[in-house]
Amino acid sequence: MGDANRHVVAIFGGACAGSTAADILAARGIDVVVFEQNARPYGKIEDGLPRWHRDQRRMEYKRIDARLDRPGVHVVPRTRLGTDLQFDEVIGWGFSAVLLANGAWRDRPLDIPGADAWLGRGLVYQNPFIYWFNHAPEASYSGPRYTIPPGAICIGGGLASIDVIKVFQLEQYGRALAARGIAVTMHDLEHAGIAATCLAHGIDDPASLGVADGWLVYRRRVEDMPLATPPPNATADQVLKIEAVRRKMLTKAQEKFRFHVRPMALPVALLTEEDRVTGVRFVETEMRDGKAVPLDDRAFDLHSTLVVSAIGSLPEPLPGIVMKGTFYDYADWDTGAYAPVPGVFGVGNVVTGRGNIKASEQHAKGVAHWLAEHYLGVQPEQTPRSIDQMTAGAEAGAAVAAAQVASYVEARPPLTAAEAEALLVRVRTRQSQVGYGTYVDWMAQVTPADAD
Ligand SMILES: Cc1cc2nc3c(=O)[nH]c(=O)nc-3n(C[C@H](O)[C@H](O)[C@H](O)COP(=O)(O)OP(=O)(O)OC[C@H]3O[C@@H](n4cnc5c(N)ncnc54)[C@H](O)[C@@H]3O)c2cc1C
Repeated sequence: MGDANRHVVAIFGGACAGSTAADILAARGIDVVVFEQNARPYGKIEDGLPRWHRDQRRMEYKRIDARLDRPGVHVVPRTRLGTDLQFDEVIGWGFSAVLLANGAWRDRPLDIPGADAWLGRGLVYQNPFIYWFNHAPEASYSGPRYTIPPGAICIGGGLASIDVIKVFQLEQYGRALAARGIAVTMHDLEHAGIAATCLAHGIDDPASLGVADGWLVYRRRVEDMPLATPPPNATADQVLKIEAVRRKMLTKAQEKFRFHVRPMALPVALLTEEDRVTGVRFVETEMRDGKAVPLDDRAFDLHSTLVVSAIGSLPEPLPGIVMKGTFYDYADWDTGAYAPVPGVFGVGNVVTGRGNIKASEQHAKGVAHWLAEHYLGVQPEQTPRSIDQMTAGAEAGAAVAAAQVASYVEARPPLTAAEAEALLVRVRTRQSQVGYGTYVDWMAQVTPADAD
C-alpha cells in the first residue's frame, strides 16, 4: 500500500459527519486523515447534547470510535484548523480533497446593542452553557461555573432552548430537594419529571419548594416554535397539524419541568447594575405576514442574574475560509462544494443548507415528531428513550457527501506514492507532537475517569 499511487483526503472534525465520511472513504481504499481540534472526537454529542441523554451518548461514542479506529483512517487529535493549521497551508499540501466537518459552534449573536460586553457577567450563550452542564461534574473541569438563580431567563424557541430551560429547572429543583435532605440524581429528575419526583418523596405540591421557575422567551407564537418541521411544500392542513404538535410538545414539557413560557416578545436591552446583568427588557410583538414585528410601546422587564441566549448555532468563521453571510461560500448546497477552491467540501452541521436538511428529512421521514418528543423527554412513559435517529440526518448527509467526494476524487489522477507518503509524514509528525499512538491508547489516555 505504502508504495502505491493513491488518494489522500483530509477531514477537519471527527464527530458524526466527519467520522461517517472517513469510514466511507476509507472503505473505498482512500487514505483519510481526520484532524480533530479536541482530544475526543465526539463533537455535539459530547458537548452539545445534554448529558441526560446518557445511553444515546454512549452509543454514539461507540459508533464514532468504530468508524475512526479502522485501517486507512489516520486520526490527528488536538489539532485545530485556523490555529494549529491554516486553511491555505493545508490546501497547499496537495490533499486529493479536503472536507470541512467542523460543525456549528458559533452562537448566533444576540441582537441587542452592546450585549456581548456582558458575556460572563450574567449573559451566556447556549453552546458554552451546555458545555458547562455536561463537563462541570468532571474533576478536571476548569471552565466557568454557573449557579442557576431564581427566574433565570432563556431567549430562544428551538430544541436547544428547551435543553437550556430544562437545565435551569433540573438544577434549581435538584438543589431545593437537596436542601430538604432529599437526594435525587439529575438523571432521575429528568426522567420522571419534577412533580412525579416530588410526589415520590412525599411533596404533593412542587410549588411548596419555593423555586422561582425559569422563563423561556420566544419572539413568535408557541405554534411557530421550531420543535417540529412540516414536510417540504406542506399543505395548509399539514402546517396546522404541525402547529398543534408544537403546542402539545411545549405544554407537555412545561407540565413535566414547570418552566414559564413568554411567547411573542423580543429582547431589546439588557438590564444591568454595576458589573452584572440583572434582567432583560423585552417588547411585545405581533405577527404580520409570518414575521414578528416589535411593538415599541409595549415593553416589559424580566429580572434575573442569568440570561442564556439560545437562538441558533452557526459555523465558526476560520481564517482563509470565505464566508457568504453567516455560512461558508458554497457553490452548491446539495454537494457542499466550497466555491473558492475546487476539491473542498462542507459536510454535516457545517452545511446547514438544503442538502443536509433534505438528507435529514428523507431519513427522518415520519419520525420527526416522535423523535422530537423523545428528545424533549415528553414521550409516553412506556416508550423506549432512544433518540438515535437524531444523528441520522448528519450521518445521512455525510454519507451522501462522502459518495460525492469519492466520485470527485476517483475522477482525478491519484497522488504519486511519494506525494502520498509526504502527506502521511506530516501526519505522523503531528501525531507524535500531540502524543498520539493508536486510537485505543489515545482514547484511554484522554477519557476522564469520571466522564458521564
Ligand atoms: C439541540 C440539538 C439539536 C439537534 N438537531 C438536529 C437536527 O435538527 N438535525 C440533525 O441532523 N441533527 C441534529 N442534532 C444531532 C447532532 O448534533 C448533529 O446532527 C450531529 O452531531 C452533527 O454532527 P457534525 O459532525 O456535523 O458536527 P459536530 O458534532 O459539531 O462535530 C464537529 C467536530 O468538528 C470539530 N471541530 C470544530 N472546529 C474545528 C476546527 N477548526 N478544526 C478541527 N476540528 C474542529 C469539533 O470538535 C467536533 O468534533 C441535534 C443535536 C442537538 C444537541
